[in-house]
Parts: sequence; structure tokens; C-alpha cells
Amino acid sequence: MSTFKELGLNSQILQALTDLGYENPTEIQKKAIPQVLSSKQDLKAFAQTGTGKTAAFSLPILEQIDANSGDTQAIILSPTRELALQIANNITDFSKHLKGVKTLAVYGGASIEDQVRKLNKGVQIIVGTPGRTVDLINRKQLKLSNLKWLILDEADEMLNMGFKDELDKILAVTPKEKQTLLFSATFPKEVEGIAKAYLKNPIEISAGEKNKGTDQVSHQYYVVSERNRYNAIKRIADVNPDIYCIIFCRTRRETQEVADKLISDGYNVDALHGDLSQAQRDSVMEKFRSKTLQILVATDVAARGLDVTDLTHVINHKLPDQIESYTHRSGRTGRAGKEGISIAIVTTREKSKLHPIERLIGKKFISTPIPTGKEICQNQLLKLIDKVQDIKVNETEINDFLPSIYEKLKDLDREELIKRFVSIEFNTFLTYYENAPDLNDSEQMRGVDRNSDRGSKRRDDENMTRFFINIGKKDKLNPARLIGLINDQRIAKNIEIGQIEILDTFSFFELDKTYEKETMSAFEGNDVDFEGRNVNVEITTKQRTGQARSGGGSSSRGGDRDRGPRKRTGDSDRGNDRKRSGDGERKPKTDFGGFGRKRPGAPGTISKSTFGSDQNPKRRKRI
Ligand code: AMP
Repeated sequence: MSTFKELGLNSQILQALTDLGYENPTEIQKKAIPQVLSSKQDLKAFAQTGTGKTAAFSLPILEQIDANSGDTQAIILSPTRELALQIANNITDFSKHLKGVKTLAVYGGASIEDQVRKLNKGVQIIVGTPGRTVDLINRKQLKLSNLKWLILDEADEMLNMGFKDELDKILAVTPKEKQTLLFSATFPKEVEGIAKAYLKNPIEISAGEKNKGTDQVSHQYYVVSERNRYNAIKRIADVNPDIYCIIFCRTRRETQEVADKLISDGYNVDALHGDLSQAQRDSVMEKFRSKTLQILVATDVAARGLDVTDLTHVINHKLPDQIESYTHRSGRTGRAGKEGISIAIVTTREKSKLHPIERLIGKKFISTPIPTGKEICQNQLLKLIDKVQDIKVNETEINDFLPSIYEKLKDLDREELIKRFVSIEFNTFLTYYENAPDLNDSEQMRGVDRNSDRGSKRRDDENMTRFFINIGKKDKLNPARLIGLINDQRIAKNIEIGQIEILDTFSFFELDKTYEKETMSAFEGNDVDFEGRNVNVEITTKQRTGQARSGGGSSSRGGDRDRGPRKRTGDSDRGNDRKRSGDGERKPKTDFGGFGRKRPGAPGTISKSTFGSDQNPKRRKRI
């Protein structure tokens, strides 16, 4: 069976699918639709993200729904509000020619009274987040006693989000005789547990191998030092002028920080995470879907299940803690038959995390060099030429100005004119990437002195954890103030402090490994500020000064370095600057070869920000 008609769907549904441009069913649809149409048996479906899961479970339900009854006959539970809304919108589209079929999304963060009012009018299909669904059940506003279909979508994420109790409560008020469908892209142990508990003798169907990503996605990795992680992202954006992507981060804070930095560097970006209000999240999603935004920086949960079809890239700012999340992340691209690229940015140490993911997705990551300044300039130039070719000239408006323009430019020949016009935009990138350093692998050791004798003497100390902190000399940080700052976090008494390196814009310090977790949670939990900057501390795998090689005797370049005896937190040497190792500090290069990050009109993502958008301050100034 290769057409929707052959699968047994009625003409109104077929018409809706034609309206949506669905020509043929996808693999999961071919398997699930006839199964649900012909049998009441429970179903456990493995389907990769982006392969048409929503239509696979909702079309056969729509085919069988009783539009003459106002009873709730189907409920789809989904982990997030965004996903619930997306599914409800899809079902509304599928049912637009079916008279009397109503679908409603119910989710937290929106007026419950509004939802109750709509429910009271009789809604056959509910798409709900578990929390709000339980609320409505408790208020006796949602009755599931006549339910025929229960669908659990993204069950693993519902469990991850701690919705097990809610699922139990919802299940308890549904009739025994119903068909339960469980759809998931990944099937970790916990989901198998749910399947065992909630499904009776289920039929198992699968489209693609379990947990595997879509074939349309190619997976690449870039090896960088910790401090170049962010710069690598900028280069990826710059070398792909038409990029439309999600950058995944692990925490809300990291998400906001990456987004803020990109925004201040002139990129067309916003953040999506749980600290934002619903209204803010809706507004960001709206801008992203309409492509007003080119880049979305998001947490796993906030972006879960989002269906944005044309994403060119997914970027893993850091790899997720749970490897299954990688499939979800990469599954945001390569959707609906389109090709996509999923990029992992890793440090040398993190490279080993790629192997289990490769096993999971059944594909190899391709090692990819970080684009050079020259490559970026070349791509931007080509993009500019494409734009010139495609630009629609507004003849009537421009005609009045042309004679004086021709007069002014009459002495320039064709080649010279082209060169000059193109240079208007191109020079920005050229200047930016002039002398841009190579960010690939070995770069990670250049910011600090590798050859210090002192460092090599201490190299045997395995009991220290090395931390990166995002403040440095420019923030008036010195070793004493850093120790004071650490003390202020009250991590524990008398923690041993190891080497301290103060660089221009960031620094490193070492603390007793035993207190690694406490240190991280103290800095995260206290929301620390230093000289007006929000302090961010990360564990770094970067080796300490002198650790990579011994001998050599080159001059020290690592910035202020703690050469004194080891200190403990609580030592009263605050304000007591330590001896320095000579000030031959090598200034950490910015990505732009020393031009600084916050230049107005920094090269950013192109179609909306740098080339051609009148929102671009650089452009406005010139006009
Ligand atoms: P889903 O996996 O349900 O999130 O669907 C992923 C994307 O594929 C959505 O944008 C759907 O609109 C689209 N899609 C689903 N089924 C089909 C189909 N049979 N033909 C074309 N596009 C489809």
C-alpha cells in the first residue's frame, strides 16, 4: 500500500492531506495507520523523530472518531506545551474537512478557565501536558470515562521530566477497554517499563532501527579547546550564511549566556528555555518558525519535539549528558525528507563521548576542521554574489536617482564598479577574519605557557580539579581577589587551592577534587557577580600550565600565576597580591584576530542581520 487512500482514509482526510502537500505516507504511517484502523490491540511504535509520527497516530483516530458525540474519545499526552500545541495544530489541519471534530490543547501556564470553557463545549480529541491534564481531571472538568484512544508521545521525555505520577493518575481514570498507543523515538529502560505497565500485549512496529537518527542527517564533530567552543559556533554560523539552526545547551543558564553573547556579537539569535515566561517562549518560537530568527539557542526540554522543517543545522554546544538526547537533538534537522547536519563541538577529552553516540545512531561522526577565515570570506562573497543576481530592482523608485549616480560613477569601468560594490560588504568579513587564528585542536594549549618548569613539577598532583572562570584581569581580578571570591561561596572549610592563572578575560583555578560538585553548585546556586559581571565557573579539562611538556625553558606567558605556597580557603590573604610569574602574558586572541568582539555590525548570520536587512545598524548608518 503506497497511498493514503489505499491505507483506508476517507475523502475528507485525503483532501486535508492534499492541502498540506502530503503526497505519500511515510514508513511509520504505512505501518501504523492500517494497524490502528483494523485492530484494537495496543501499539508500541518506534519511530525516528521527524518521520511523521503525529499523522501516524492521529489519522486513524480521526478516521474512526464519532463526530456526533461530544465525549472526549482520544487523549494525546505530550511532555511540553509547545509539543502539545504543535500536535493539536496538526490534528486541526488533518480534520479541517471533518464536520464537528474538535481538538483542544490543554497545558499549564495558560488560563485554565478558558480551557474549561472550551472543554464544556464538547471536544473529542485532547492533547495535553500531564500536569494540566491531571488538574482538569481533579476539577472534574475533563472526563475520560468514554475514552477510546490514549496516546503517549515522547514517553521517555515525560518520564525524564518526572511525570510518572501524573501518568499513573490519568491512566487510573480511563476505561479498561481502550487502545493505548505509545510512540517514541528512543526506548530506554524506563520507557520499556511504562510499556509493560500500561500496554496490554502490544503489537510492535518500527520505522527505522530503534534509537537511530534519521538517514537524512549527517553528523560532524569539531575539536576545539574549551575557550574556543563559542568562537567555533560563530565560525560555523559565518561559513553558512543561510544557516537556520538550533544550538543545544545543557542548562538554562548556559543557554542564556550563549544566546546573549551571540546577540551582542550581532547574530540573529534568541534563547528558549524554562526560565522564560510562556509569553516569551511563544514569541521566540513564533519568530523562529517565521524565520525572523535564524538561530535558536535552546535547552533539550524546551526544544523537545519541535517541528521546524527546514533546519539546516543542529549544533551541540556541549554534548548532552544522556546520549539518547543526542538523537532528539539531531532529529530536529533532516525532517520531512530534507537533509541536515548535526554538529558536535567537543574538546579533546570529550571526543570519547562520541563513540557511544555513534553506536546508538548507527553512524560515524565525521571529523571536520573549523572553517578558516578565508573559507568564511569566500562563502560570504559567494552569498553576496547570489544576492546581487537575485535582487529585485525597484525600477520606478530608483529611476529618479540613477542619472546623478551614473554621473558620479562615470569614470569607473565595469570591473572596478563590481569590485567596489562587493567590497562594501565583503570588507567587513575580510577585516574581521584577517589574521584569524586556527581554532582546531592544538590551539587549545596556546593561551597559556606549556613549558613552565614550575608547572611540570606539580604535574603529578591528581587531587585537584581545574576550573575555568569567565573573569580575568580586565575585570580587575587578581589571585587574592579570586581566593576571596572562592571563600565567599562558603563551599567548605579549608579547601586546598592549587594553581591560579589569571588571564585577560578569563582565568583558571584548582581546588581539591573532593569538593568538585560543591564548588560547581555553590557558584551556580549563588548567582555570583564580580565587578558587575555574572560569574560562570566550569570544570575544565584544560591542562595546567606546563603540563603538556616538560623542559623547554621558554618564557612564561600564562598570565598571573600562583607561585606561592598552596593556599586554603579561609586563609586571610585577601587583598594580598601574590608574586607574579613575570607579566609576559599572552593575550588570548579573539576569534577576530584582535578586533574585539563587540564591534557594531559584527559579522553575524547573514540573511537577516548583516547582508541586506535594514535592521542592521551598520547598514542603517550607511544609508
Ligand atoms: P512529525 O514526525 O509528525 O513531527 O512530522 C515531521 C514533519 O513531517 C512535519 O512537518 C509533518 O508535517 C511532515 N510530514 C509528516 N508526514 C508527512 C507526509 N506523509 N508527507 C510529507 N510531509 C509529512
